[in-house]
Amino acid sequence: MKEQKICMLGAFAVGKTSLVRRFVEGMFSEEYLTTIGVKIDQKQVSCPRGELLMILWDVAGEDRFHTITDTYLRGSAAYLLVADGGRPQTIEQALQIDQRAQKLLGGVPRLLLLNKADLREEWPSDDGVALARAAELGMLVLPSSAKTGVGVEEAFVQLADQLL
Ligand code: GDP
Ligand code: MG
Repeated sequence: MKEQKICMLGAFAVGKTSLVRRFVEGMFSEEYLTTIGVKIDQKQVSCPRGELLMILWDVAGEDRFHTITDTYLRGSAAYLLVADGGRPQTIEQALQIDQRAQKLLGGVPRLLLLNKADLREEWPSDDGVALARAAELGMLVLPSSAKTGVGVEEAFVQLADQLL
């Protein structure tokens, strides 16, 4: 089976680890799960174009982008950008990360998840500018919730399908 490396990228506490956990283990925890180094999980997915073994790289602990080394990103076939829909500045951060990752990796597929969609009623409405910019960059933006599972499987499968 074809296998591909996919990185989870985004600001602190947006839900990267929780999304992987939901997708791979079908679980969610309210606690902040501190891990050390990089955690690598894998999951086989079936999508319209075939089967793919996704090798998911999640930077644990201190994951501000300036500390993410080229080593971490190298060899990624795609990446999932994550922002917290309740914190518009994390969308800005995701767009900055995207710029650097596109430069490093070349135009690989990526998606932007607006995570924590279960709290949507509390989301501020001032994220329109950043979202318009994401659209301009050709980025697909999807809502997700690691807590309820809404949109999670769909996002990973969408990305996987683009790699087949
Ligand atoms: P990371 O730093 O990006 O890996 O973020 P984590 O996955 O550790 O999540 C940070 C915090 O947000 C934790 O307390 C999670 O329980 C919480 N969290 C993550 N995803 C969601 C979500 O979809 N909804 C809600 N309500 N909380 C979430
Ligand atoms: Mg994490």
